[in-house]
Amino acid sequence: MTYQTHGKHLIAGEQVAGEKTFRSEPVDGNGADFAVGSEDLVNRACEAAEAAFPAYGATSREERAKFLETIADEIEARAEAITETGSRESGLPEARLQGERGRTTGQFRLFAEHIRKGDYLDRRHDAALPDRAPLPRPDLKMIQRPIGPVAVFGASNFPLAFSVGGGDTAAALAAGCPVVVKGHSAHPGTGELVGDAITAAVKKCGLPAGTFSLIQGGDRKVGAALVQHPLIKAVGFTGSLAGGRALFDLCAQRPEPIPFFGELGSVNPMFVLPEATKARGAEIGKGWAGSLTMGAGQFCTNPGIAIVARGSEGDAFVSAATEALKEVGPQTMLTDGIASAYKDGKARFDSRNSANPLLTNEDEGRNASPNLYETDVDAYLQDHALGEEVFGPLGLVVRVGGPDDMARLAEGMDGQLTTTLHMDDGDTDLARRLLPLLERKAGRILVNGFPTGVEVADAMVHGGPYPASTNFGATSVGTLSIRRFLRPVCYQNLPDALLPEAF
Ligand code: NAP
Repeated sequence: MTYQTHGKHLIAGEQVAGEKTFRSEPVDGNGADFAVGSEDLVNRACEAAEAAFPAYGATSREERAKFLETIADEIEARAEAITETGSRESGLPEARLQGERGRTTGQFRLFAEHIRKGDYLDRRHDAALPDRAPLPRPDLKMIQRPIGPVAVFGASNFPLAFSVGGGDTAAALAAGCPVVVKGHSAHPGTGELVGDAITAAVKKCGLPAGTFSLIQGGDRKVGAALVQHPLIKAVGFTGSLAGGRALFDLCAQRPEPIPFFGELGSVNPMFVLPEATKARGAEIGKGWAGSLTMGAGQFCTNPGIAIVARGSEGDAFVSAATEALKEVGPQTMLTDGIASAYKDGKARFDSRNSANPLLTNEDEGRNASPNLYETDVDAYLQDHALGEEVFGPLGLVVRVGGPDDMARLAEGMDGQLTTTLHMDDGDTDLARRLLPLLERKAGRILVNGFPTGVEVADAMVHGGPYPASTNFGATSVGTLSIRRFLRPVCYQNLPDALLPEAF
């Protein structure tokens, strides 16, 4: 049965209608009306968040852990409606939505465990040295404290795990920060359901109503007003480079600049080293085609670029990849706009003499089929556009002459979320040469695997130097992501009774 959306914003526990509405665009054509946000509503949500902060920020870790677990339960209680609505709005298969829901509730539960352990507080204590000469040392205790209201923007391609109840929201709430979400216009009904779940959990746990608000989109001014609101202290953003950069610049221009944690696009270069190419080039090529087209290529970790040697062994990689891509038919894209941007990206490649087409497809409407191009190292380094993300199943093979070319490419590439080495034992010396270069470029370096699929774990880094993210010291996935919404405070000579946490 189709879930009937209420179409309203959720502001500090209340359903609020808007003066205007926008219509959602699910794949079955049965759109629904959703309230458009406004600057007044942004102000109302931010004021409620600030009013909630003294009490919410002072909750115990156990209280917050229970709250996070209650959110997970409330999401599960709406599982069927979330899967059905999410699949209709995004065009993603139901199995994918179910898996993503597990990841989303798992994320809330992981953060509950993480804050219970308390390591994230990074408590540091320099005991007083009253007899030190020439000057005594005071007692110094440092601890991480929540920063205040946080704004969250989710991406279209993860309607659950990187959206209203995604990693940014889980991390900020775990830290003790109220959250104001700007809903994504690509999946407003899914966002509403998850927003309802969080709102129900706020009530059940007796927390201040302003701990959570969801303002639906429909107007870009809403996002701009949210990041500029003086009560917002940080922004968690997942989305495109263009959108992220526009909002980042607004944050930097504020009278009080605030951190903007933007997780943006990436082309995730994959280096196929010579011995691995010789031993199993065709197998790697086939695996690459699978990773490149997974979810219609709409992953930020989509490995868009493969770097492979010229010559017959590299040719085996290229032919296997091309054959495997031919087998992949058209897939439905997340939105009409994203499908149209994919066509523009393909046209960008078609317009370049330096990109030789190996496989091209023309698509209708919201569909996208794989496209594959080939270039060489000099053309790639000279034409920046060849290294820019095309969101969808488009691949580029860069043919190289040898190790020096690989090193030049590694040096010349932009910041990335991931980079991959396919290697055998005989490639170790080359890998050792490339690693220091790749470490400066990517947040995660893989060997003999594919970057799609990001484990939510303590050691995960999902971030990287610009333009992969706007803040290379941070990750948006895994428990370390909580640090984005904390600030170290040093307490000098404070009596224990006044400290926010026991030492
Ligand atoms: P998007 O178009 O940038 O949208 C993301 C959010 O930002 C939406 O809420 C959007 O509002 C808002 N927005 C965009 N431009 C804006 C502007 N100029 N002013 C105010 N608000 C603005 O991104 P998307 O298409 O949803 O997501 C796909 C992109 O995300 C891809 O590039 C992908 O690689 C990247 N991504 C990155 C990660 C990661 O972890 N690094 C994960 C997933 C996806 P509307 O609702 O009005 O559009």
